[in-house]
Amino acid sequence: MFRKILIANRGEIALRIQRACRELGIPTVAVHSTADAEAMHVRLADESVCIGPASPRDSYLNVAAILSAASITGADAIHPGYGFLSENAGFAEMVEAHGLTFIGPSAAHIRMMGDKIEAKMAMASLGVPLVPGSVGAVEDLNEAAKVADRIGYPVLVKAAAGGGGRGMKVASSAEGLEEAWRLARAEARSAFGNDAVYIEKYLDKPRHIELQVMADSHGNVVHFGERDCSLQRRHQKVLEEAGSPALTAAERDALGTTVTAGLSKLGYRNAGTLEFLYQDGQFAFIEMNTRLQVEHPVTEMVSGVDLVREQIRIAAGQPLGYTQADITFNGHAIECRINAEDPLTFAPSPGKVTAFHAPGGLGVRVDSALYAGYTVPSYYDSMIAKLIVHAPTRAEAISRLRRALAEFVVVGVKTSLPLHQRIVDDPDFQAGDYTIHWLERFVGS
Ligand code: ADP
Repeated sequence: MFRKILIANRGEIALRIQRACRELGIPTVAVHSTADAEAMHVRLADESVCIGPASPRDSYLNVAAILSAASITGADAIHPGYGFLSENAGFAEMVEAHGLTFIGPSAAHIRMMGDKIEAKMAMASLGVPLVPGSVGAVEDLNEAAKVADRIGYPVLVKAAAGGGGRGMKVASSAEGLEEAWRLARAEARSAFGNDAVYIEKYLDKPRHIELQVMADSHGNVVHFGERDCSLQRRHQKVLEEAGSPALTAAERDALGTTVTAGLSKLGYRNAGTLEFLYQDGQFAFIEMNTRLQVEHPVTEMVSGVDLVREQIRIAAGQPLGYTQADITFNGHAIECRINAEDPLTFAPSPGKVTAFHAPGGLGVRVDSALYAGYTVPSYYDSMIAKLIVHAPTRAEAISRLRRALAEFVVVGVKTSLPLHQRIVDDPDFQAGDYTIHWLERFVGS
């Protein structure tokens, strides 16, 4: 097992990883920017190192400073969390080149799945169903038009290097293709420095359903069931559930069998999430994330397994020690992402938190690095807390969520709590009757 783990992240996820380390008896090193000197992940760590100024480029993305911090403190493994360097294959390579362990998949698999075109080709070869679209990158507008005619409008022009919902534009007809093509490429170039794009059929009423997988370095691969992340705004998840209100256990098992067999063939290691669109009873793969996801707690609540602990054990070379048949799902879990933002305009609302009270009680979990007196900085993601509830049934989880949302107090910054309160009270949500387009209409109304 590791001697000491450096956590190359901040906020709630840095705390989440610290908690798993502490339960395993492993000391932790926090890294932080000058803006985060007073942050909770620094206060609770065994040791901390300042790695640069507030701008993420100079601190949380500063590879040299992070590796120096590991070296100075004698850490022998690095957990990247999500975001920042978590899907940077070069960073994973650099960590290993310095004789440390990167807690995650191999650099080769991070690179493969980071290119969505390559990821789709790999999945197709493993028998995983895809969204209809171009085979590989589309080189010019002419070819784009041919693909779109073949699969039929509307189509989506997507960046190969895309992430965070950027570099994605819809063309509803042939007239709109040139503009979508131009805008997607320009956005991809400026956000990712790579303007390769591909084309997919734009599905009109899919759900976003993703499968959590875990693989050890001894060839064992299991899945931990699905999460329904259809409630999105601008392709960003807002609320997630495990399991999906739309899926049967048989559908989940069939998908799980295909996926775990495929990943075993690929030699994949550590945690991963395969994202699918699900419409008319069919799954279509869109991408794979080679890291821990923000929404992993809902899976932990229904499976009873600490996924971060599993990531650490696997990275240390330990076998899973259980099979698919040992994994069972208990009840229903829902997570709300609470952001420091205006609930109507969605404008970020950084500033000083003057009062903070987290809800509690049976089946309530709050993952947050917030405290009264803390100033939410403007430099980073606006998510300040995740509220997770767990109950025997979905209906009871919804009642518990309503109760917990009402108990939650954050004063000083605006938050998305009122939006979640509106969602929970909506009959469509209560019926589990929603697609990826539902929330956009709901907030527009
Ligand atoms: P990113 O990596 O930027 O998050 P994804 O490929 O994971 O991009 O897609 C993000 C979201 O965009 C999906 O969850 C879904 O809501 C929407 N989306 C992606 N592909 C399609 C498609 N072919 N049709 C309809 N919606 C899509």
